[in-house]
Amino acid sequence: MTTTASDVLIEGKAKIVRQDTTAHQVRVIFKDCATAFNGEKFSEIPGKGELNAKISGMLFQLLEEHHIPTCFVALGESANELVYNNLTMIPLEVVVRNHAYGSVCKRFGFEQGMAFKQPLVEYFLKNDAANDPQITESMIQERGSLPASISLSLLERRALQINEIFVAFFEARGIRCADFKLEFGVDAQGVLMLGDELSPDNFRLRDVKTAQVLDKDVFRLDLADLIETYQTLLKRMEAPTKLALDQPRTYWAQVFVKSRKNILNPESKAILTSLHNVGFTSVNGLQAGKRFEVQIEANTMMAAERQLLKIAEDVLSNPVIEDFELELGLSGGVS
Ligand code: 5GP
Repeated sequence: MTTTASDVLIEGKAKIVRQDTTAHQVRVIFKDCATAFNGEKFSEIPGKGELNAKISGMLFQLLEEHHIPTCFVALGESANELVYNNLTMIPLEVVVRNHAYGSVCKRFGFEQGMAFKQPLVEYFLKNDAANDPQITESMIQERGSLPASISLSLLERRALQINEIFVAFFEARGIRCADFKLEFGVDAQGVLMLGDELSPDNFRLRDVKTAQVLDKDVFRLDLADLIETYQTLLKRMEAPTKLALDQPRTYWAQVFVKSRKNILNPESKAILTSLHNVGFTSVNGLQAGKRFEVQIEANTMMAAERQLLKIAEDVLSNPVIEDFELELGLSGGVS
């Protein structure tokens, strides 16, 4: 396919995004360059773009197979290219950590390589000029970084659902998935989708037995040849190994159901009247709701979510007059 300078939508450090001939799709070209320390270290590395496109394509497909919505549409015409649905990106980096490496050791003094009791999720503002600072929930609200349809608890849940699949995928290949960075966006309907890339540039991956580094730390820390390392990783990813996600696990959820805004249900009205009758006349608004605690078996947290959304919509709430919120978590940590 021919391209022109004018069809370039964005050019970043690692990728060029071009408009596709299909209106809502883009073509993402993975560049042959590596950068680290916010662009301070830079190298042209022929062949890196192809490897990153291939590895990202595989991991996006793995997530899609497990019903995680992503931007991925297809492999591109060239080996260093993928076709994505065009998303409106959320300007946050979502980092999931199973083991302590990198900045979390510097910031919090964790011993390198130690396993966390539960996977940790951290948020960083995408802002090169400010060196992508860590950001709190209230600062995310203050800056209005999230689209109206997306809550931070959904972002965290989706990051943990993705982590569960990556941990199982790499564990089956003798690789520890220590940490990774995700970027999300929303489609035209406001649905949360995983975007960006899923290459070893964004992960820390270590051989379980030898601790061999299989990610961009080989470039950051001058440990080994990047192309050889990424080729080794790709070969191990391509090995037809069964994913350890065929055993049902127990998940715990809470479903909160409440009346839609501006609908005062009879229970709320009765409680408000009682409060006024016993002298609490300062209360001028009250909304009663229901909370359900649910223990559910599923092979993945995403499969549990799909079942719970149906249960909440069809059974626990009345969709005409009520809204619900879902909280869902693992009953144990990642081993
Ligand atoms: P750390 O916070 O330890 O530097 O990074 C945690 C994880 O997120 C690592 O796997 C790292 O590769 C990834 N990560 C964090 N920030 C960036 C970034 O700006 N670009 C890329 N490619 N990966 C990042």
